[in-house]
Amino acid sequence: MESLPVIVESKLEMRKLSRYWKTKGNIIGFVPTMGYLHEGHLSLVRAARKRCDKLVVSIFVNPTQFGPREDLEKYPRDLDKDLALCARESVDVVFHPGESEMYPGGFQTYVTVQDISKPMCGVSRPTHFRGVATIVAKLFNMVEPHFAVFGEKDFQQLLVIRKMVEDLDMDIEIVPHPIVREPDGLAMSSRNVYLSAQERRQAVCLSQALTAAQDIFSKGERDAETIKAIARKNIQAMPLAKIDYVELRNASDLSMVDKIDCPCVLALAVFFEKARLIDNCILDPGSGRYNK
Ligand code: AMP
Repeated sequence: MESLPVIVESKLEMRKLSRYWKTKGNIIGFVPTMGYLHEGHLSLVRAARKRCDKLVVSIFVNPTQFGPREDLEKYPRDLDKDLALCARESVDVVFHPGESEMYPGGFQTYVTVQDISKPMCGVSRPTHFRGVATIVAKLFNMVEPHFAVFGEKDFQQLLVIRKMVEDLDMDIEIVPHPIVREPDGLAMSSRNVYLSAQERRQAVCLSQALTAAQDIFSKGERDAETIKAIARKNIQAMPLAKIDYVELRNASDLSMVDKIDCPCVLALAVFFEKARLIDNCILDPGSGRYNK
């Protein structure tokens, strides 16, 4: 049986360990998560494991990225299972700080990445990316990794983190990782457990909407409104799905586009009764692959 990873709860201990590893010449990889790990998370962990000597996975349900009426209290948690999964992937340390360790009384400093945080998820979740950028900056300061892996499933989050790292001169490589899906196409998410059986069947409309859009794009369609309309139609075909947004934007800075003449992201957010699901795909008119 695999041995369980070391669990570190103190930020000072985490930093001490990282600095010790660095004195020995180790490359440190980092995968930040909110736990309740699934194959999506584990594929990030495996990608990180391949390119580092010491691998840290953080598990912290970050309160500052939840809005007042969101699911912070209900967010699924299963630390024992997460530890067993991390053991199987040979994770060296699970960093699992408590809330008061991360946000002691009197905490008042936040990181705001301005423009990229505003559209798409920023409209229905106006304080979300401030919370994400703040916690990731704090985790980076505690773990001091050489690189960190983030999923493309949270595409806007990936851009926010990249911009933060660039603007604040953080010496950490941000490594993107492709979306991992269920066999029927639904993007894996800890929040999929909120779906009823009927909703789960209808949730496939997100990936179907993306596939339909990719299909007309590959046949030469470049008009943003036409492509978004196809995506909307697929989602609206499911009675339990309610669109939050369907957006088609420049994949580097999320600026608006009318015609696809640069790599663009088609991004969706869809409400079901208790879950808000997101998904996206890149539409790249260039001959080469979209340059991440
Ligand atoms: P979370 O625990 O939801 O905060 O996610 C932690 C990391 O896992 C983030 O970088 C996510 O983008 C990534 N992630 C979550 N679900 C998936 C997925 N289905 N495919 C790829 N990455 C994912």
